[in-house]
Amino acid sequence: MPLPNIDQEYFVDFLVKLLNIASPTGFAEPAVAFVEKELSQFNQLQLTRTRKGALVAKWAVESDLTPAALTAHVDTLGAVVKEIKSNGRLRLSRIGGIQWNTVETEGVWVFTSKGEKIRGSVLVDTASGHVHGAEGSKTLRDADHMEVRLDVRTTSEKETRELGISIGDCVAFDPRVEVTNGFIRSRFLDDKACVANVVAAIKSMAEAGLTPARTVYFHISNYEEVGHGAAAGIPSEVAELVTVDMAVVGEGQESDEFNATLCIKDGGGVYHEGLNKKMRALAEKHNIPYKTDVYTFYASDGEAFWSAGGDVALALIGPGIDASHNYERTHTEGLVATTNWIMAYLLSE
Ligand SMILES: [Zn+2]
Repeated sequence: MPLPNIDQEYFVDFLVKLLNIASPTGFAEPAVAFVEKELSQFNQLQLTRTRKGALVAKWAVESDLTPAALTAHVDTLGAVVKEIKSNGRLRLSRIGGIQWNTVETEGVWVFTSKGEKIRGSVLVDTASGHVHGAEGSKTLRDADHMEVRLDVRTTSEKETRELGISIGDCVAFDPRVEVTNGFIRSRFLDDKACVANVVAAIKSMAEAGLTPARTVYFHISNYEEVGHGAAAGIPSEVAELVTVDMAVVGEGQESDEFNATLCIKDGGGVYHEGLNKKMRALAEKHNIPYKTDVYTFYASDGEAFWSAGGDVALALIGPGIDASHNYERTHTEGLVATTNWIMAYLLSE
């Protein structure tokens, strides 16, 4: 049976909207709610939330086959206000592993605990070329030297506090989304691209009148970037878990932006040989362009479930993302390949 068509216009539109919703880990609720609203249009799905706030969509099917699950995460790197400096600017504490040099001069929103948004940007504290000259480029880009300059009048800690900003407020970096020639360039394609893959697969299947071969749980994780997203929320009846997360593109990597990748091993260990074989066979059967790869500085939400005691066969697939955790980029070809692979898996017995 051929795979159903993917509505690429819808896919890109959904992904761009999702990318533009700020959702650092711990503050990802608006993005989870956005996905929840999108999935609520499919009455095949039963939507629930975990206590931790993850979204679980169950597509129940009459079948003797044991249920399966897929997980993708909607939370991203970000920061919180660590300290308000005497000059009124903010010192940050990072959420996840963003590197300071990659957000230098980036626009940010500070979300206050009272629900207000305040605009600003990230600068090194020796930013002015006319003040510091060549010395500015020697300043270490680290937590002590990077600060947020707010686009409101403040020159003191007191004035900044009076704006409603307090320690622990969420700081979200602008994603800067651009779509050109099939390339999608944005921060946080990790892992919003894969959330869009999962949603697009559900939509394509539903509109084609198809159902999965077994009951499937779609787990939209909200704590992946800090290491424990899918540790909870995968029902114990699930026998196979497919993690859908970005593939690593760069020097020494096999993955690219035009293929999907099956990760065999990453920093968190080795995946399940049996499920890997099944995924490869599905890709070959449906002519899905794919690579296999090994990631060094990487651990997945599926491994978080394994570490938490989850007893499943586990695989990791995803589209190639260039310059991950930096200013990322991928291509619709890799995204289509991943969506097709998800559908092939859902339909397989
Ligand atoms: Zn990820």
